[in-house]
Amino acid sequence: MPLRKKTRQVRVGNVRIGGDAPVALQTMTSGYTHEIDKCIAEINKLARAGADLVRVAVPDKKDTEALKEIIPASPVPIVADVHFHFQRALEAIEAGVHKIRLNPGNIQDRPKVEQVIAACKERGIPIRVGVNEGGIVERRDKDQRASEKAEMESDYRGTLIRLMLDKLAEYLRIFDDNDFHDVVISAKSIDPRLVIDMYTAISERYDYPLHLGVTHAGPPETGRIRSIAALGTLLANGIGDTIRISYAADPVHEVEDGKELLCSLGLRNRTEPELIACPTCGRIQVDLFKLVTDVRRKLTEIDVPIKVAVMGCVVNGPGECEGSDVAIFAGNGRGIIYVQGEQKQTVPEEQMLDALLEECREFADRVKRGEAELKGGAVEIVAP
Ligand code: SF4
Repeated sequence: MPLRKKTRQVRVGNVRIGGDAPVALQTMTSGYTHEIDKCIAEINKLARAGADLVRVAVPDKKDTEALKEIIPASPVPIVADVHFHFQRALEAIEAGVHKIRLNPGNIQDRPKVEQVIAACKERGIPIRVGVNEGGIVERRDKDQRASEKAEMESDYRGTLIRLMLDKLAEYLRIFDDNDFHDVVISAKSIDPRLVIDMYTAISERYDYPLHLGVTHAGPPETGRIRSIAALGTLLANGIGDTIRISYAADPVHEVEDGKELLCSLGLRNRTEPELIACPTCGRIQVDLFKLVTDVRRKLTEIDVPIKVAVMGCVVNGPGECEGSDVAIFAGNGRGIIYVQGEQKQTVPEEQMLDALLEECREFADRVKRGEAELKGGAVEIVAP
């Protein structure tokens, strides 16, 4: 995997984005920001799930007012998502927010943007310039030139990328003119291929850190695949400093998916057990799906990143067991348990879950006491 492209670094509260910092994972609350207690509870839940920072919408003054209570109560930095009203940005900055997101499609007036820049500069707050496909397409319908409309009809994706890059360049000029460089860029689309091409083009032009995302990706079943196809490709190519996976569901699942994506690519160390399981086939002799579901649920009680394998038969079982810390392979109504490649015990099918978990707990305790090492060792994070 190529090294991550080195970008400038910005500080969002105590989280660094870009430069040599690990890829930061973020998401957005789904509830109303002005419902303060609920908002704080949701932020806490997202932080516990692994979010490094959380964004909240601030459409009204009552939302920016709420930030004064939310920010001190949050365990992670808070980003204010501002659309349409630049005053919301100024109010959020005054309330102590750690980062602002501005949409160039919605806040275009230069003097207003300059007021936000000045306020952020004074307090050392970064700004994400988040251009979206939606804003560009909407502009096409309103005031785009006839020649651009015709160009878009013949090459929608190519024209859209050019228009988004133009909009970005035009907006970033205001930041340059004001000598403001604490900038993060995003350029989201509903089309994963466009997202890949767009961010690749941006990373060739700018050294600002990039916030990756596919917007309006859909329900979890498809949205997760679309996001991971685009973000996984970019990250594997060394592009991206912070990510948000987004789809229509409880954002805690977005965080779980984002965490798994970063761990899978070696961009984040695991803090919890990793479960390996076979997909099952015609050789299976036990109810493996149920066993895997039960093991997965129970492993959440263990806070050591042990590697656990649950295999359905002897064909690939012993091989996988060799590479895992704790493993079981089942067959003929029984299971054989291995710990770090050594056969420990054979148990009847009905005892497989309890016996495997007991071995997992015991091994995790030995790791904590320094009496055993994880099979894979600590993951080396892929850094720029
Ligand atoms: S481990 Fe056995 S049961 Fe599982 S997929 Fe492989 S061959 Fe099939």
